[in-house]
Amino acid sequence: MKTIKVKDKEFAVSITAETLQREVKRVASEINRDYAGREPVFLAVLNGAFIFAADLLREVTLPCEISFVKLASYQGVNSTGHIREVIGLSTDITDRPVIIVEDIVDTGLTMAYMIDTLKAQKPASIDICALLVKPEKLQVNLDVRYCALQIPNDFIVGYGLDYDGFGRNTKDIYTVRL
Ligand code: IMP
Repeated sequence: MKTIKVKDKEFAVSITAETLQREVKRVASEINRDYAGREPVFLAVLNGAFIFAADLLREVTLPCEISFVKLASYQGVNSTGHIREVIGLSTDITDRPVIIVEDIVDTGLTMAYMIDTLKAQKPASIDICALLVKPEKLQVNLDVRYCALQIPNDFIVGYGLDYDGFGRNTKDIYTVRL
């Protein structure tokens, strides 16, 4: 089995590049079908979604725009303790259909917060397109309309996802070895 070491941890390949490419194409064709006649704005969430967004967008045949946002965490005073701020949204999304491109939905709190924030700008609609979802970890009621793959509750790296900043630059996805 193909393994890699990222910092102090060993990882073994769990989703191959072929599977990723196949599922990314499938999701893109669903978007092409559902958004026919519309001009969506894709909002890719940095850093993790950069590779997924690049592959996805090359399979999208609609007239569309892409913009990149980053989520900054800071210590807040509400009950969750952490509030995240959407930074860098320079595109006007008012009355536009928005598709958020995210690497992985884990608890779902990030996406729930992002949707709340974007709604203030009155987009025509908001859909989530996630490369991966860990359904066992979801803590909020979130409608992930487009999802390439569902995965178990294990820590993964590769294809844009990191462990402590490292491990993003692989074509396959790897799961941590216990
Ligand atoms: P959520 O708010 O719990 O859904 O967190 C989503 C974010 O957590 C993702 O955008 C990733 O940055 C990070 N994340 C969650 N699970 C993993 C993982 O297995 N590997 C790397 N990053 C992860």
